[in-house]
Amino acid sequence: MDDAEFRRRGKEMIDYIADYLLHISDRRVTPEVEPGYLRPLLPKNAPKQSEKWEDIMSDVERAIMPGITHWQHPRFHAYFPAGNSYPSILGEMLSAGLGIVGFSWAASPACTELETIMLDWIGRMIALPVAFLPFDPKCDHKKNDNDDASLSGSDDDDDDDDDDESSDDHLRDSVSNGDNNHERKQSRHIGGGVLLGSASECILVAMLAARTKKITSKRLADPFIEDGQILAKLVCYTSKLAHSCVEKAGLIAMVRVRDLPVDENFSLRGETLDEWIRVDKENGLIPFLVSGTLGTTSCCSYDNLEEIGEICQREELWFHVDGAYAGSALICEEYRYIMKGLQFADSFNTNPNKWLLMNFDCSCFWVRDKFALINAMSVDPLYLQHKHAQQAVDYRHWGVALSRRFRALKLWFTIRSYGIEGLRFYIREHCRLAKVFELLIRADIRFEIIGNVTLGLVCFRLTGSNKLNQALLLSLNDSGLIHMVPSMVNDLYIIRFAVCAKHATDDDMHVAFHIIQEHADSVIIEYRAQRS
Ligand code: PLP
Repeated sequence: MDDAEFRRRGKEMIDYIADYLLHISDRRVTPEVEPGYLRPLLPKNAPKQSEKWEDIMSDVERAIMPGITHWQHPRFHAYFPAGNSYPSILGEMLSAGLGIVGFSWAASPACTELETIMLDWIGRMIALPVAFLPFDPKCDHKKNDNDDASLSGSDDDDDDDDDDESSDDHLRDSVSNGDNNHERKQSRHIGGGVLLGSASECILVAMLAARTKKITSKRLADPFIEDGQILAKLVCYTSKLAHSCVEKAGLIAMVRVRDLPVDENFSLRGETLDEWIRVDKENGLIPFLVSGTLGTTSCCSYDNLEEIGEICQREELWFHVDGAYAGSALICEEYRYIMKGLQFADSFNTNPNKWLLMNFDCSCFWVRDKFALINAMSVDPLYLQHKHAQQAVDYRHWGVALSRRFRALKLWFTIRSYGIEGLRFYIREHCRLAKVFELLIRADIRFEIIGNVTLGLVCFRLTGSNKLNQALLLSLNDSGLIHMVPSMVNDLYIIRFAVCAKHATDDDMHVAFHIIQEHADSVIIEYRAQRS
């Protein structure tokens, strides 16, 4: 493909994508293929000679599209939204076109610097405690905060001259008191953010940092103890409803992960955590990490961050908060009540690629102490060193991967194109539509709502057995008309309805509800017939 053809094909590809998205509702939501469907449709070996572009594109419709689950379809209500928007797609395109690999500042300074600035922007958009945000003495924070008075999560008062304290404990206190101005003068400010590939990666990285921190402190107390002896005793706590990636991180990091029970609001409470820590310590184990969730995958419930945070502080445990989905809602002031207690966190992640119109992959991860990450993940071969390493950020020390994409571009394009208000409108619409759907479900006495509908997820079920609900969901998903996934909370099989489509409408909620009602009619009749 030469320059001229690239220009032509590129424009055609944009048309193809725009047409696909415009007419997506003409398709089934889920494919009808069986595992292995693709192999017979493609040649056994790669072509020896170049093939015509038209032939490749026609195979997209013939072979690929039949196996696509249409995540952007208005009737796709599974998992959580898969972020997508035109500015983000174009940002991705530019990133691919530049073809850079930004593992260090020197490998492409703009890649690193834009990433730092985007993490700062988003951190401020979601009112993250300022201990997480990069301190930039040249940056006029005051002006920025005033651009949007609701940012910063605190009253942005005028104590810019109050500069007497500099301990990290003070930062924690000042944040919990809603006073973020102290930190602007912190010469020891050591927080910061990075873009990683997934929430799973963020949680793994938090676990690795917490593990190193605890092992280091234990070794300081007892220089003769081996790392392996400490490792064998480490315990991480999370709730039964936390995402399975916490368990997976435990497998990789080779540490125990305890899934603790939740209360009647599906929330992990301090009392439960406290009791387990006590028992584990009595048995000679070493608690080191709590991974709390702000918006569980199962039912969008919230752990009690305040109670957990206080315990973490007392017990010197790393406190990670996973806000993969719900974190995006924090751009709207009215949802910030859910982040109460976040000031205790050592690290936090949220995925703009779920609910902030960014294409996958785009996970934001912030830490209060960047050196905890760097201590856990730093290696420094000669070929990666550069003369600015002392002053610049090298993100290769902040995660598992060395090579890194220019992910910040899509954030930059999307945030600028929509503006914070545009993004807020999108979030608020999804939350409003979830309420519309909730009311429809509540109006049909055969159904019940499980948990509270706070954001864009509605969990419901037919009153009756888990089997009945399994049959309903199977029938709905087999129809190809709509797609949802189940979850299990406190032994109840529930159906999750997530508002996902970018331009979802009231009408979409009604259509979805009617499909569900029709299938419920026939599943109930069938179920009764089987039992009689
Ligand atoms: N945490 C929560 C709360 C999630 O909802 C999800 C996915 O839905 C994850 C973590 C895992 O996300 P990722 O696929 O980015 O690893």
